[in-house]
Amino acid sequence: MPRSRLPVHAIALVALISVILEPAGRSAFATATGQGRSGAAQQRKIYWADEVPKGWNGKWAPKFQVVPERTDFTRATSTLQLHEFIDVLKWNAEDMHVFTVFTSALRKVAPAIVLAHPRVTSPEEARASGKPVIYLQGNIHPAEPEGTEALLMVMRDILLGKYKHLLDHQILIFCPIFNVDGTDTFVTEDGTPHITGVRTNAGGFDLNRDGVKLETIEVNGLYQNVLNRWDPVLLFDAHLMGRVNHGYANTYATSTVPTAHPGPRGYVWDTLFPAVREAVRRDFGLETFTHCLFDEAHWPPTVWSHDNAIWSVEAKFIVSDYGLRNRMSIITETPGHPTFERRIYAQYAYILALLEFTNAHASEMQRVCNDADADTVAKVRAQAESGQLRNWVEGKYESWGKIDLLAYKTNDTAYLPGTSVRVTAPGSATGPPEVVHGVEHLTKPVGTKDASVPRGYLIPADMRDLVAKLRAHNIKVQVLDKPMAAVGEEFVVDRMVKARAGGFEMTRLEGGFFGPTTRQVAAGTFFLDMAQPMANAAFYYLEPQAADGFVGWGMLDDALRSLGVDKHPVVYPIFKFRKAVDAPGR
Ligand SMILES: [Zn+2]
Repeated sequence: MPRSRLPVHAIALVALISVILEPAGRSAFATATGQGRSGAAQQRKIYWADEVPKGWNGKWAPKFQVVPERTDFTRATSTLQLHEFIDVLKWNAEDMHVFTVFTSALRKVAPAIVLAHPRVTSPEEARASGKPVIYLQGNIHPAEPEGTEALLMVMRDILLGKYKHLLDHQILIFCPIFNVDGTDTFVTEDGTPHITGVRTNAGGFDLNRDGVKLETIEVNGLYQNVLNRWDPVLLFDAHLMGRVNHGYANTYATSTVPTAHPGPRGYVWDTLFPAVREAVRRDFGLETFTHCLFDEAHWPPTVWSHDNAIWSVEAKFIVSDYGLRNRMSIITETPGHPTFERRIYAQYAYILALLEFTNAHASEMQRVCNDADADTVAKVRAQAESGQLRNWVEGKYESWGKIDLLAYKTNDTAYLPGTSVRVTAPGSATGPPEVVHGVEHLTKPVGTKDASVPRGYLIPADMRDLVAKLRAHNIKVQVLDKPMAAVGEEFVVDRMVKARAGGFEMTRLEGGFFGPTTRQVAAGTFFLDMAQPMANAAFYYLEPQAADGFVGWGMLDDALRSLGVDKHPVVYPIFKFRKAVDAPGR
């Protein structure tokens, strides 16, 4: 998510990096975040600023080169060039299958490529193989195209190069260009690539805010044709930040919605992230760390926080929402000011190190997700009727403790002589960064407000659109074929408040729960049994006070207005019950 995007001209790196520095001693970086380990890594050369290892992408015949490789890293891949690249791979490799994620408003097809050995062509075949599916996407924000190029290179290197073993224990689905319409809306840039796509889709929507409300063709395609059908154990989404002052080649985050089951997201944070970080350092010579920013108005920095990088405990980001499914998810964000080549290298390095990890830990990752599914269902069955089961509807970040941070005091820009291109000024954000000690690591998600988790929800028969959204999210909802009585809690809305947050007009409900109370509902009412793996997601979307559930995104505004919420208190139309009488299918 770039703030102001101002990358460096490719040529500038030669002029501006005056000294190619050997790595500082281990103390300068390996312990810089408190996650470092002692050992052989200290001998590894670390590449700073715009540096990349010579020949890092290998030697490939022209037809196997991606667009940046063919254009001295001045151009990014268009959707036509993506199809051409897939076509070349198809004629030269056996272990791939291509399917359509969606067809866009401008009638462009977004392809996904399944890499498996032996080849699989359906979710059923994938399940029968016993291997977990890993899903990787680029260009949800086409102005951030380095992930796309890295994904294409990784596909090529797996199918035709030295990484075939990455298909030993896993199935990989690549969607290199997710926002196809945005990708082909070309605009000129100050830096590299010189011509690139725009952030939004053809309707002007930011697809990475559509994780809950599912109003775009693109995200509906992703959810219904990839996530619901193939059930990836891990979702990976590649991005770019703006011009930053930190010293990391790439940054990463996972779902931090406190409502999500702690198993999968805890595994990503505690086990996967430190291991992949070490591997990127060891195998690729890059320093990476959590997706944060510090307050650049003060030096030295004191806080390194997700909030500053606009990462959130809310569910609107695809990666955040995916955590509500008891699955793993990762976003990476390279800094925006280095060269396109450096940014591609940073994503390439992270993706390969990640896929080495997932290949080696495939069954462990499956187990963590399956355990979270089973635990979610078991808790609802055991504790929901008594009202003991609770979960979070709101959260915030707290500090994990103090860390050492890699940072530059300045990252000034200057005009490249004889051009109108602004680049990193000599002497700033080049070479090794400084190590700043004692910085608070503000990335620990904690809940701040909770609510009881019901045994199920009863949704009025006329809320068909809302139920369609739940089903698009893979949540099972039944229709009552006879009347039903249930005991539960009623939420009385005192006031509906509209407030701007994160660039959106959000809805907030003031009021409180009352009960226990008995409700009679007619046949045709929708019945959502919470004893299902998607219970945490259903809870977050339907709870009246969830930070950015269906209420937050305004999806119940009309229903509440028709009940008269602008004039007097009303009862929230979705009833949460603890104990059902004559419930179906149980
Ligand atoms: Zn982005």
